Amino acid sequence: MFPSDGALTLRLASNQPDIGTIELGERPIRVGRHPDNDICITDGVASRHHCVIEPADGGTYILKDLGSRNGTKVNGRQVEVVLLSDGDIVSIGKFAMHVEFDKPMFETHSAPAPAFEREPEPASESAVFLDDEPVEGLGSFAGVHNTVQSPNAMRRASGKDRGKRVKPGKEWIAELSSIAEGLPDTTPMDTKIVLLDADGKPSNALESSADGAVATRLLLIIAARSRATDIHVEPKDDNIQVRMRVDGQMISVTDLPTQVGDLFVGLIRTACLMAQAGRDAIQDGHFAVKWSDRRVDFRASITPTVRGQKLVVRVLDARIAPQRLSEMGMPPYMEEAVRKLCQQDTGFILAAGPTGSGKTTTLYNAMREIDRERRNVVTIEDPVEYHIEGVTQIPVGRDTRFAELLRSILRQDPDVILVGEIRDEETARTAMQASMTGHVVFSTIHAKDSIGAVFRLLDLGVEPYLVANAMNLVIAQRLVRSLCDSCKRAVAVTPGQATRCGKYMEGKHQTFVPTGCGRCLRTGFVGRRAIFEMLLFDDELRDCVLHNPTIQKMKKVIEQGVFRTLQQSGWVLAGQGLTSLDEVDKVAGWA
Ligand SMILES: [Zn+2]
Repeated sequence: MFPSDGALTLRLASNQPDIGTIELGERPIRVGRHPDNDICITDGVASRHHCVIEPADGGTYILKDLGSRNGTKVNGRQVEVVLLSDGDIVSIGKFAMHVEFDKPMFETHSAPAPAFEREPEPASESAVFLDDEPVEGLGSFAGVHNTVQSPNAMRRASGKDRGKRVKPGKEWIAELSSIAEGLPDTTPMDTKIVLLDADGKPSNALESSADGAVATRLLLIIAARSRATDIHVEPKDDNIQVRMRVDGQMISVTDLPTQVGDLFVGLIRTACLMAQAGRDAIQDGHFAVKWSDRRVDFRASITPTVRGQKLVVRVLDARIAPQRLSEMGMPPYMEEAVRKLCQQDTGFILAAGPTGSGKTTTLYNAMREIDRERRNVVTIEDPVEYHIEGVTQIPVGRDTRFAELLRSILRQDPDVILVGEIRDEETARTAMQASMTGHVVFSTIHAKDSIGAVFRLLDLGVEPYLVANAMNLVIAQRLVRSLCDSCKRAVAVTPGQATRCGKYMEGKHQTFVPTGCGRCLRTGFVGRRAIFEMLLFDDELRDCVLHNPTIQKMKKVIEQGVFRTLQQSGWVLAGQGLTSLDEVDKVAGWA
């Protein structure tokens, strides 16, 4: 944990004999090869001015890489800006510093902390230490937990309670455990874990202390705690790289020894009941895991690469996404408009955005507002990923098309229909006609924004009168990453930013930027939330769509009412300190 009050000091114990231990106060500490630096490193890998450690709010310290040639690593991972935590290991080439926060109220420091012993191997690897318990004894999550019981196992590296070194070849267990422990505790480590194979047959294969089971268990825990949507396991020249997609971004988790990585892939293959196949086979399958009251489904696929087989495991965890309309963070007037339409007998809601912008989640949550006991709700999806109670969900088969299925469903007396995606003229026209003949229709379309969605329909060949009369709401959306509350940093709003978006930030003079800590996998962000743009069809807009519309003309009509672009919605969130301005620009683009 990082400190929360000003009574803390930071101590750096380095492995370079002429430096020893340094205490940090109010002044920044510069690190590099140039003699001007506070810490002058002899390692040739270091740049002249390599990085700086400086005090920040609330007694915290931030490390910034100064654009060094070979980078600065914290706990083995390359960083640009990072909030330092107790126990972190900062390394530059073979040079390493151990970070310790001291609380003078509880501990006395008459004796300086012992400096690192010189280790023959690179510093980042020598940073892994564990308690006396043998690693072989790991039999369950509880076992892992007991082994790494301090908030940070690495803290012991220079403390009086220095532990034994991890058995060579088992460093990956300490590393994965430490990553899992740093993440917010949403999935307990010590719960019994049941593996369900592709046939749903339960087994306790993950309770074993074998390397494959330990690796699988720890990786699944990290994925669950970090809300990862995909786990990528890819062979490299001399190890196996594990990355996860978290909040839409790929993050390096660890490099596993090839043997352990192969065991992990083997275990997943067995769980998926994949047939024996050559190393150049493409295979896919699925399995599930149950811990406490929770079940998470996984879909795995294996493809051959030049270095061997690459495994991607998709995590289908319904808990990652908001489960109600009210949890989505829509401005009240938008939420009200959606809710109102869900109670009507006819209408059309179209959600627009690229793949992965959360459109389906929005429509699912809108559907949850519908009285599913009293109304017949049917969906056509490609594929059906999450199940909603009280809804008939139909997957689009390989040989059927949305339009064909939609026509057959219309003969089954539906009240509410969700059409997964509008990709062609026929689907668009059938869905719109349905919405005008006593049905509520939901669908999605690939379009940049709400106006773009209207033009996309017209481009598909749908007549303007149909678009104008059928459409009620077009919602465009994107997902922006939410800043990590544990490490976000306040910065002043620049004059340029104030001119561009000050109006939407309610005159705030400061905004927040990401830093990175153990709770957010050093990304500075935790989770995502949607930003919305909503086009409400009123008479004026219908009129505009009917008569040779242009983007300019539509904008003019829209701007007379309450309309906020995606970007403006993002700026509102940045003003509230929920995301950063850079993130909004990245996701919603410059305008
Ligand atoms: Zn953080």
